[in-house]
Amino acid sequence: MDYLQDLVTLRGKISTVRKQGNSIGFVPTMGFLHEGHLSLIRAARAQNDFVVVSIFVNPLQFGKGEDYAEYPRDLENDSRLAAAAGCDLIFSPAVRDFYPPGYATHVEALGSITQGLCGASRPGHFRGVTTVLVKLFNLVTPDRTYFGQKDAQQCLVVKKMLDDLNFNIQFKIMPTVREADGLAMSSRNKFLTPRQRAAAPVLYQSLRQVEALFRGGERNGAVLKDKVHRLITAVPETEIDYIEIVGVDGLKPAEQVEKSCLVALAVKFGSTRLIDNIILEV
Ligand code: AMP
Repeated sequence: MDYLQDLVTLRGKISTVRKQGNSIGFVPTMGFLHEGHLSLIRAARAQNDFVVVSIFVNPLQFGKGEDYAEYPRDLENDSRLAAAAGCDLIFSPAVRDFYPPGYATHVEALGSITQGLCGASRPGHFRGVTTVLVKLFNLVTPDRTYFGQKDAQQCLVVKKMLDDLNFNIQFKIMPTVREADGLAMSSRNKFLTPRQRAAAPVLYQSLRQVEALFRGGERNGAVLKDKVHRLITAVPETEIDYIEIVGVDGLKPAEQVEKSCLVALAVKFGSTRLIDNIILEV
């Protein structure tokens, strides 16, 4: 497996891979890899000749007071895990090379898909995400790219950007990988104290309860949200950022679940903010 930091060297390598007629699968990440990331790498391995994983903690997608500086990093372990999952090349650029002094161009998806949920509580976040990804897609030129359902809003925003900007890249969404107790895997889980970690499965449990109510015929958004709210606020050390039920297409709030909806939540355990979601299929 190759490990490259330099943008020009990456371009050279990609050009060689392309000349040899290989297809390219690409998994963008911020590193500190876990089974969620590895499931994306394995899917890319199964469907492409050459697999690129980027590891880049992108400062543009963190707001003031968020955890950019503290975000966990472990490139050595990541390299080992990525190689074992079938990665051919890790690209991990330095921030000063990726955004050199004077860098001025940003890409932003507007409208309802970026307005609510994490777009509302993390202003500028998705602008940072689309900007880093446009650059990475231009450098890596993948045939297919792999994202996790755990970041459902991100999936929609990136898919929209790919369509709007006419990228010729297949967009693949893989299921959320969970710990045995249901907690969605996340690089941020390592920040949880033992007490918070023991309590955190309440997120998925509450989503499952909503699913059960929905299957039982409940369609009222407020009633479904209230269920999640009550279960989570009963747990000490939790602070709800949002619990929303939105249509899966435009992410607009749904008062009644009459078409397929996303139930999405963001909850803080102390200073650690976790997100999770499920889809209610109609
Ligand atoms: P991150 O490193 O958190 O930016 O995530 C990189 C990619 O891995 C994104 O497409 C995420 O949606 C995906 N991912 C993160 N956690 C999980 C998980 N638990 N299951 C599946 N995919 C995940």
